Amino acid sequence: MNRRVPIYEGKAKQLFEGPEPGTLIQHFKDDATAFNNVKKGVINGKGVINNRISEYLMLRLGEIGIPTHFIRTLNMREQLVKAVEIIPLEVIVRNVAAGSFASRFGVDEGAQLPYPIIEFCLKSDKLNDPIVAPEIIVAFQWAQPSELEDITSMALRINDFLSGLLLGAGIRLIDFKIEFGRHYEGNTVQVILADEISPDCCRLWDTKTGEKMDKDRFRRDLGKVEEAYREVARRLGVLPSDKEVAAKSPAASKKPVKLSAVKKKKTRK
Ligand code: UDP
Repeated sequence: MNRRVPIYEGKAKQLFEGPEPGTLIQHFKDDATAFNNVKKGVINGKGVINNRISEYLMLRLGEIGIPTHFIRTLNMREQLVKAVEIIPLEVIVRNVAAGSFASRFGVDEGAQLPYPIIEFCLKSDKLNDPIVAPEIIVAFQWAQPSELEDITSMALRINDFLSGLLLGAGIRLIDFKIEFGRHYEGNTVQVILADEISPDCCRLWDTKTGEKMDKDRFRRDLGKVEEAYREVARRLGVLPSDKEVAAKSPAASKKPVKLSAVKKKKTRK
């Protein structure tokens, strides 16, 4: 019997109360959405694979000193994480022009950028995640200047590290989105990496063929979506078995939680 207390239901993940105070259970679903929820679908086994990939990348980042919310994996679809107060920003790091960036500036998708570019978007489905300048972030107190400094330096370190790690697996890191949160412990507060890092929120291209290995396959109806996610996991050495990929946990079949009934802690993918 599943008696866990749901905290939040997002598009690709659910959050439940954790076993100890200050912890949450992050559950990865197979659901996929794009274009601010306009396109919806299911990518079979995605939740299991993203759970693995995110665990792997968060652990590797932890090893180079990036503080993350990841505590430990609980099962095929769930991980225990530190509860944080999410900073309402989507932090996007770009190495190569793609997607909305390429169209916004009229550059070819695939154009190499001279250096990594960070963009901040306000996490707001209602407003369609508008891009915000640091000045505006500080003016509206979504983050303090020192927090933005921490976020920027961590985002660049994360980009450097992940670019190298993925290159070693024959994958080019085009761009990605990460989120940060405030972790309170005693009377200290620290900005830490939260949410997930997976092909849902990165653009990953095969270094040799340029083939897309990420959610753009779903967004753009390119086919072989499941295969692409599996291939990323395989190359990183974390591919679960077929039986594990098919694993469903009780929470997956539960009715969606009414957003109005719970405190909104995290949003979208
Ligand atoms: N991204 C994301 N969630 C969002 C928006 C973007 O994970 O709500 C990721 C996306 O997968 C890509 C990067 O952030 O890796 C940059 O996305 P972009 O701004 O180009 O948006 P898109 O073209 O997807 O609209």
